[in-house]
Amino acid sequence: MRQDVLNLTPYKPSKAVCEIKLDANENPYEIPNEVKQRIEKRIKNEKLNFYCDASCDELRGQLSIYTGLKPEQIFVGSGGDEIISDLIFAFAGPGRDVIIPVPSFGSYETFARISGANVIKVPLLLEEANGNFSWDLDVAGIKRYFRSDIPQLMFLCYPNNPTGDYFDEQKMFDLIDSFNGIIVIDEAYFEFGGKTFSDRLSDYPNIVIVRTFSKAFCIAGLRVGYALGHEDVIEQFYKVKLPYNVNTYSQIAATEILKNIEWVKKTTVGLIESRDKLVNELKKLDGITVYPSSTNFLLCKLKKSRDYVYEQLLDRGILTRRLNGENLDNTLRFNVGTPEQNDKLLMAFKQIL
Ligand code: PMP
Repeated sequence: MRQDVLNLTPYKPSKAVCEIKLDANENPYEIPNEVKQRIEKRIKNEKLNFYCDASCDELRGQLSIYTGLKPEQIFVGSGGDEIISDLIFAFAGPGRDVIIPVPSFGSYETFARISGANVIKVPLLLEEANGNFSWDLDVAGIKRYFRSDIPQLMFLCYPNNPTGDYFDEQKMFDLIDSFNGIIVIDEAYFEFGGKTFSDRLSDYPNIVIVRTFSKAFCIAGLRVGYALGHEDVIEQFYKVKLPYNVNTYSQIAATEILKNIEWVKKTTVGLIESRDKLVNELKKLDGITVYPSSTNFLLCKLKKSRDYVYEQLLDRGILTRRLNGENLDNTLRFNVGTPEQNDKLLMAFKQIL
């Protein structure tokens, strides 16, 4: 057993029994029945004894329409997780640096460590002005680690999980303009905030964007994600990916959902409205600070012990997430649910806080 792998903690999502599951930033809605039926009809006609399409051509065609980029600039993987893992496989490893502003999505560090790369974590700055909080990049702190004598990979999660909001755009450009390596911009929550670097790819061939079907597209269980980037960078994925990485069912499902993009847009608008309403209501309560969000989840800091609040919520059937890391003590993260679920969550907070 490799000692460095032995030292890792396995990722084991909670299996707590609950009525309202808000711990994994999933979408509370299922895709419409008509779309499900169309997917199942197509599956019935598929020859499942044959391997799936290894390059997801039909799905990349639909993604090309959705993103406005060429199919050659798009790679499809088994969730954003596979995209991140493939990128680290291709660009990181022993003798190389992986730079991560933290707290952020845990997979960056986990995969970087498995690769044997040197992990550099730079804490975000938590700032407050007139009662408004922001978690932003420590540009000078990050730049201190930039070097040109070894290959480096940097992850910027935009908007950031778990803190919930975008980093300042000028700070992003400040970093991007002075970095020599590959910059991964994780836009897993793109649809809930609308900002993207996909229109800057021609200016920055060293940017790779990560997106997912697990959030706005409602199919976390089917594991579909994709990368956007320069054709020469996208080509590298095919050298490191698993040969048949996205199964037939998932490819068809993602394709059919993209054909129903209006439904996705409508549900997303509804979730954004619910999120903003939930933020406003939570702000009226004592004992809780809600950080701004451009995603489908909220990060909150509590006055009472978070273990107590977490358990109390679970007693009421509501599962949330306790995350560990820089500046995350006594915080809870939960995603936005249906309006009924949000009402129950709010009521529970009122009782507990
Ligand atoms: N990036 C971020 C920031 C995420 O929060 C997640 C999932 N929670 C992912 C990537 C991976 O998403 P998936 O593998 O489900 O596509």
